Amino acid sequence: MADTHETISCPACGKTMKKVFIPNLGINIDICTEGCGGIFFDNREFKQFDEQNESIDMITKELENKEFIPVDENQVRICPACGAKMVKNSTRAEGDVIVDDCYSCGGKFLDHGELEKIRKEFRTEKDRAGDAVRYLYSKVGKEIAAASNPYASERVAGNMQWKKHSPIYNLFTKIMGL
Ligand SMILES: [Zn+2]
Ligand SMILES: [Zn+2]
Repeated sequence: MADTHETISCPACGKTMKKVFIPNLGINIDICTEGCGGIFFDNREFKQFDEQNESIDMITKELENKEFIPVDENQVRICPACGAKMVKNSTRAEGDVIVDDCYSCGGKFLDHGELEKIRKEFRTEKDRAGDAVRYLYSKVGKEIAAASNPYASERVAGNMQWKKHSPIYNLFTKIMGL
């Protein structure tokens, strides 16, 4: 999906977000400079900022020396680009950073400070995917394997109920394409 060109409101605090053009990538990032300090990335834009060798100077420059209003990170957010409900996902198997993803348009919202935390988790995207797969294998691998057996599927579906809607479950299903 293309970059949003119209001004959008922050999904966390409702303030108008500032469009910041990143010249070397030719894209706009929406930053909540006057409200909570959150950042909204259109579809796939985030991939260009999550590794340590990728520059976020343009983003941090907009946010430095500012005070931000506190927001409730547990609240369900509505995607500012397409209006769909966003889904909370863990950024790693056993981490504490929860981001909001829009499965409808691919948008992603990060609360203030999360970008820096996510970049510290893994050196590359490949390392991040490996972490999720290892965790999946250790925790739910057996259940997934059993689920492919039609005779076991009902029982397994019951066992897996608790994982539905948890951020970790969402992360796995996304990475595994389940
Ligand atoms: Zn905000
Ligand atoms: Zn959306």
